[in-house]
Amino acid sequence: MSERLNLYDFAPDRLRSELSGIVSPPFRIKQIEEWMYVRGVDTFEAMTNLPKETRAALAQRFTIEFPEVVEITPPAPDGSRKYLFKLSDGNRIESVYMPMGERTSVCLSSQAGCAVGCTFCVTGFFGAGRNLTPSEILGQFFTIQREHAVAPEQMNIVFMGMGEPLLNLDNVVQSLEVFYRTIAPKRITLSTSGIIPGIEALAALDRRPNLAVSINAPDRPRREEIMPITAKYPLDGLMAVLRRFPLEKGRDITIEYVLLAGYNDSREDAAVLARLIRGLDAKVNAIPLNEDENLPAWMKRPSEEAIDDFVEALVRNGVQVTVRRSKGRAIAAACGQLRGKNQPLPRKSLVRYAAEPAVKRESPSHRRAGERRR
Ligand code: SF4
Repeated sequence: MSERLNLYDFAPDRLRSELSGIVSPPFRIKQIEEWMYVRGVDTFEAMTNLPKETRAALAQRFTIEFPEVVEITPPAPDGSRKYLFKLSDGNRIESVYMPMGERTSVCLSSQAGCAVGCTFCVTGFFGAGRNLTPSEILGQFFTIQREHAVAPEQMNIVFMGMGEPLLNLDNVVQSLEVFYRTIAPKRITLSTSGIIPGIEALAALDRRPNLAVSINAPDRPRREEIMPITAKYPLDGLMAVLRRFPLEKGRDITIEYVLLAGYNDSREDAAVLARLIRGLDAKVNAIPLNEDENLPAWMKRPSEEAIDDFVEALVRNGVQVTVRRSKGRAIAAACGQLRGKNQPLPRKSLVRYAAEPAVKRESPSHRRAGERRR
């Protein structure tokens, strides 16, 4: 591991004060900022408009390294590719490149692992891991952006990869401030499992990304079962904080809803979800489960017919909805799935989630996968 500090880990103010003792005249600092924050270079050699001696002095004291790419999946039918990065401590994280016509989205990880432990998520099996540093967050983005030569004004960023971004708020916000130099806040989306203090902290910022909240069940018992974080941050408290969240004109909150066959995908579930979010400026993003061998056997992707029924019921209840019909199964696109294929999962997590869901057995409105009732 390098002893030198990574300049990408410094907040912009600290970067300027660190550099002012080494670099002169002052316009050179602006040039370095441009190379880092706009072009996202990862060597001082690439800063070709700096004198050689300046580059050498910088390289002696600092680094601007990014995590190493260790695997890139072949493109899925929609062109998406998943990147597996190795961090300097050996941890592995994932990011996804998603070309979408004139725009390109990059999905970033914020933590190596995740303490939230959603039972439908492979990342949760790895446990808490650690927070990613700003250089590790920025490195995912710049590596992918440079490789595909996409102009910043065509980029969207989504924090929907491994980890809960609001449990790494300082480093995520520091990274956002760098992204904002070239990408408007409305082009960046942060997805949370519903960390109430984190949402409140986000609400207090001058500039905010879009907010997406993973709801995944229309009622507290089921949400608590598949998202244990609900015990700490209950659904009613979460909805209350979302109703207070300041939204810029034209923006909505995205309600993410992973569809699990026979568990949360009935028309009745859609109606209850619609009631839950009534009055909120929100749209639902329904996400049919990306099946994975590491998930409990009962967790299945609903049939296309079931997905259509759920969506139709939401629309009939006045809810704006999109469906993420992921082509990602070919690239293990849900967070943690590529790392799960590269690193054996901890044994205890396989035991922890092996049982049938308790709530599914108790509630008459929950059908077993394949038993569709109208
Ligand atoms: S879905 Fe998100 S919050 Fe939940 S365990 Fe996975 S990474 Fe963590």
